[in-house]
Amino acid sequence: MKSNQRLASIEAAHQELVEFGVDPFAVEIEEIVSPTGGIIQGRPTILAGTNNYLGLTFHPDCVAAAKKALEEQGTGTTGSRMANGSYACHRELERELAAFYEKSDAIVFSTGYQANLGTISSIAGPGDTVFIDADSHASIYDGCQLSGASVIRFRHNDYEDLAKRLRRLGEAAADALIVVEGVYSMLGDRAPLKEFVRVKNEFGARLIVDEAHSLGVLGERGRGVVEEADVLDEVDFIVGTFSKSLGNTGGFCVSSSDNMAVLRYASRPYVFTASLPPATIAATRAALKLLDKGSDLRKRLHNNATRLHDGLKSFGFTLGAPVNAVVAVVIGDKSEALSMWDYLLKAGVYVNLMVPPATPGSESLLRCSVSAAHSAAQIDALCNAFGEWRSRNS
Ligand code: PMP
Repeated sequence: MKSNQRLASIEAAHQELVEFGVDPFAVEIEEIVSPTGGIIQGRPTILAGTNNYLGLTFHPDCVAAAKKALEEQGTGTTGSRMANGSYACHRELERELAAFYEKSDAIVFSTGYQANLGTISSIAGPGDTVFIDADSHASIYDGCQLSGASVIRFRHNDYEDLAKRLRRLGEAAADALIVVEGVYSMLGDRAPLKEFVRVKNEFGARLIVDEAHSLGVLGERGRGVVEEADVLDEVDFIVGTFSKSLGNTGGFCVSSSDNMAVLRYASRPYVFTASLPPATIAATRAALKLLDKGSDLRKRLHNNATRLHDGLKSFGFTLGAPVNAVVAVVIGDKSEALSMWDYLLKAGVYVNLMVPPATPGSESLLRCSVSAAHSAAQIDALCNAFGEWRSRNS
């Protein structure tokens, strides 16, 4: 397709939303008041579409660390770590991440997107095969494309389908790379990691787990599904982001693989982009400490998630998964999802509107991300706004 045609078809899909009277791409949060509150269209609004799972974006430790680094080390690094050198803080954060996961090394990337791009495209290359879950995040698809490897998709969370496809590959399965997510971002459902580990061991393949939505949320120390499922030692590479529970920007890969040093220099998304500014690194280090000791935060998050989940269920909504920090309301009809999202926004509640093809199936979703920083009153107001929409439209 010519680029003009391609862009025109993307814009046509956008216009379909705009003509309906909503434009989810144009939401402007005019003021940020707290981790869970803002002003949108002049109205005080509960923010429940943020991924700010632990609510750390305003934490005094993180803000103070960022301010200090900003004053002492300046606003930016102005270059890539390979060409311009690493600041000491980059390496310190990498050591802290490796220690947190009890792995030998970590690589910090400038975003979580780049962490997937860099990790997948350095481990796999032309002639290799990467097996990915059908519902994988775009960064996993893009990482595969950058690698030049063959890509085989298996059915979502279906380890038996994966095993069947690995078997078909014969001896080459031992060189295969498997990529799954700990928690899937749209529905909030967990991967059966124990079973995936069993399959990868059976074939001698390697496994990457993207813990973007489970870091800080699950596991006793917040190490995600790998900790919850007790497979930390058996997963080859863990990828994650600073942009959710750590309340910042950046990404990482941790592993005890002997190849970590070379992986860094083989990774184009590490080599050819500017490194994170010192204030970002400092705030992330402060957040990682809070996350590690954050069992109270996780308890609060879990209580809020349960309250929202149960409240929405009591109004008869269909939810995407058992209780988790992502609570997705499944709406069959796209136009119903659009009008509901618009109603909620006008009622002072901001959630994520997700419509096909961005959703796993043909259904639309109103995706709520719960935060430890939400008050019980905010969770109740969120539920009630959904309930009011239902009572007006049934
Ligand atoms: N992996 C997954 C599963 C994600 O959901 C996201 C972000 N939504 C990313 C990676 C990318 O993270 P970042 O926003 O830090 O680039």
